[in-house]
Amino acid sequence: MRVLKTIKELREYRKKIMGKVGFVATMGYLHKGHASLINAARKECSNVIVSIFVNPKQFGRNEDLDKYPRDIKRDIKLCKEAKVDCIFYPENKEMYPGDESTIVDVEKVTEALCGKFRPTHFRGVTTVVIKLFNIITPDIAYFGQKDLQQSVVIKKMTKDLNLNVEIRVCSIIREKDGLAMSSRNKYLNIEERAKAVTLYKSLTKARNAFKEGIRNVKELKTIIKKEVDKIIKKGIDQIQYIDIIDINSLKSVKKAKKGDAIAIAVFIGKTRLIDNIIL
Ligand code: AMP
Repeated sequence: MRVLKTIKELREYRKKIMGKVGFVATMGYLHKGHASLINAARKECSNVIVSIFVNPKQFGRNEDLDKYPRDIKRDIKLCKEAKVDCIFYPENKEMYPGDESTIVDVEKVTEALCGKFRPTHFRGVTTVVIKLFNIITPDIAYFGQKDLQQSVVIKKMTKDLNLNVEIRVCSIIREKDGLAMSSRNKYLNIEERAKAVTLYKSLTKARNAFKEGIRNVKELKTIIKKEVDKIIKKGIDQIQYIDIIDINSLKSVKKAKKGDAIAIAVFIGKTRLIDNIIL
């Protein structure tokens, strides 16, 4: 497995690859969720490239860029075990030399859900992803449904800009108790970790109600809110949003239908967790 740090090295490496290249973009501190994307890539592609880059442009001013967990040694080990062919591990100045004046901004689908609360986040994501696509030129790129809005935004960018890459969205990998795996789960203390499972619990409760025939959005949201309210400590935790959306437009629906998603974002202490479930 190669670990390459410069764009030049990566391009030279890429030139020599004949078969299909699968690409997994990550911010490191890898877990089984990332590994599932790598496995999906391995099934379809003869060469798998993983990028590890904590992209400063997708963090807001008061967000967790400085304390975002990093452990490159562990990441390299996980990638080796997952039979990754190459890690692209650039430094900040390699990706952003400081003289750039271009950003890629996808409209509309970035306005809902997380976009409302993190107004500069998605343009940071799309700008870095298109740069990575241009550097790596993958045939297929793999993203997780864990970041549902991100996957929709990237699919939209790829279509709108006629990017020559197929986008695959892979299902959410969860801990045994249902908590969606995330690098940010590391921030949770024991008490917070115990509370965190409520996100998934509340989503499954609403999905069960949907299965039993409830289509009214207000009713479904109330089921979730009631469940999450049980763990919310006033002034410490906070529900950011609970929404039922069409998974292509990301617009809130009036009546829930099969294939819609319920998405949720909650602050447990200082840690912002997101999750979603497809009806
Ligand atoms: P991140 O390193 O958090 O930026 O995530 C990199 C990629 O892994 C994104 O496409 C995420 O959606 C995906 N991912 C993160 N957590 C999970 C998970 N629990 N299950 C599946 N994919 C995930």
